Amino acid sequence: MNVKIPFVDLNFQHQPIQNKINSAIQSVLQNGDFILGQALTDFEKAFSAASHALFGIGVASGTDAIALGLQACNIGVGDEVILPANTFVATLIGVIRAGATPIFVDCCPKTALIDLEAASAAVTSKTKAIIPVHLYGQMVSPLKLLNFAKTHDLLIFEDAAQAHLATRDGYRAGSVGIAAAFSFYPSKNLGAIGDGGMLLTSDAEVAQKMTRLRNYGASYKYYHTDPGTNSRLDTLQAAVLLEKLPYLSEWNRQRLHLAKLYDSELAPLVSKGIIPMQNQSDEGHVYHLYVVKITEDSSISRQDLQQKFIEAGIQTGIHYPIPCHLQPAFANLGYQMGDFPHAEALAKQILSLPMYPGLTPSQVKETVATIAEVLCEQKLVILNT
Ligand SMILES: *Cc1c(COP(=O)(O)O)cnc(C)c1O
Repeated sequence: MNVKIPFVDLNFQHQPIQNKINSAIQSVLQNGDFILGQALTDFEKAFSAASHALFGIGVASGTDAIALGLQACNIGVGDEVILPANTFVATLIGVIRAGATPIFVDCCPKTALIDLEAASAAVTSKTKAIIPVHLYGQMVSPLKLLNFAKTHDLLIFEDAAQAHLATRDGYRAGSVGIAAAFSFYPSKNLGAIGDGGMLLTSDAEVAQKMTRLRNYGASYKYYHTDPGTNSRLDTLQAAVLLEKLPYLSEWNRQRLHLAKLYDSELAPLVSKGIIPMQNQSDEGHVYHLYVVKITEDSSISRQDLQQKFIEAGIQTGIHYPIPCHLQPAFANLGYQMGDFPHAEALAKQILSLPMYPGLTPSQVKETVATIAEVLCEQKLVILNT
């Protein structure tokens, strides 16, 4: 099938700065400092500063940033960690790899962000931390989070893999908790040309432990004080990310403008059961994804709408079709269908529409027009039968 509007197109980011990226790669080749090289140090400084954190420690992936980051915060065996059921599975994998016990809670149906009242109810004497996932590019309210953490004496460990430079309540993603995990998977708001991740923290001890954990647990060469691993962000990836970072704010601004256009174009369809996820953070939402709900009030099913999109050459996605607590690999955690009604309902209703810097306003309008047409056709079918 011919793709008219792709879900993501990274060429719009890379083509205008192709020469810069090429020369950054060339200079790493010339320097030969492939592991823990200068560009990595430079990028760690630049990204942590941009995110209002004191330290950045580059690792091999966002998943490693979570798994090793939790260990760096001394969260592990015997500790319960609260996380939303409706996140990408990597959040859960990180908790399990750290040796901690994941405790799922439900989300708010309007934003898909973790429900802090449900989180309060899930706190026990073993709870050590909460992982707010800044899902789709919107932060969980930092003021509410800090209040929650203070009330229950818990650590906040942010999963900011979808929220590079997002802001809310005057805080930037990555500066709210004891530490925060980022991913530079290619299609994230800031993406490498391969895998990558980073832990941000303003706690010197956490930063030092993380620096050891990613490098075989070594305090210095051949002296190992922590059960670490090999998980460093390649100098080559850091060099590319360093070239892309100055453009990130502009790319995020483009995403926000496109989202506002989606919102206004979709407004007439809200009464027909097509409901965009709510933006509660004004200009601070960085729209990693633009997600709508196809509710029961709609005359068309999500599946049929997706089929129409395929026929129209418009790519869409579902983030995510199965909540973590229902994934077969984690059945041993003992959760079941019905445990988290909002997360389960969302998994059936959500649809992610094309969203990337370089997507045009007319493509946004065409995408929404496709939904409007389908709803209109459905109505005619119903009237004629
Ligand atoms: C992408 C993502 C991760 C994992 O990052 P990787 O770099 O792919 O390992 C973790 N959490 C969330 C919410 C993500 O979107």
